[in-house]
Amino acid sequence: MAKYWVADQACIVADRCLQLFGGYGYMKEYPIAHLFADTRVPRILAGANEVMKELVARSL
Ligand SMILES: Cc1cc2nc3c(=O)[nH]c(=O)nc-3n(C[C@H](O)[C@H](O)[C@H](O)COP(=O)(O)OP(=O)(O)OC[C@H]3O[C@@H](n4cnc5c(N)ncnc54)[C@H](O)[C@@H]3O)c2cc1C
Repeated sequence: MAKYWVADQACIVADRCLQLFGGYGYMKEYPIAHLFADTRVPRILAGANEVMKELVARSL
């Protein structure tokens, strides 16, 4: 449950932060662009969010 929630929240936070930077936030020269890309991968690796949902559902 925690991995699923944190992976989603990290994306939401990074997306809001990137928005603050405007167009610069999209440019790879800025660390926020890397953070945005890096926060996306936990929703896939070590069990995709959909797999986490399955595990949670099985435990109910
Ligand atoms: C940067 C990076 C580092 C990695 N490092 C490691 C490592 O060190 N060791 C290691 O073992 N692996 C590693 N991996 C592999 C990683 O664990 C897999 O990418 C991950 O398990 C997802 O498998 P997949 O890429 O085959 O995607 P798939 O299993 O094909 O999933 C693709 C999409 O299909 C959907 N999906 C999949 N299964 C279900 C389901 N049951 N129900 C509903 N929807 C589903 C989801 O939307 C999912 O995002 C790494 C991957 C990346 C990107």
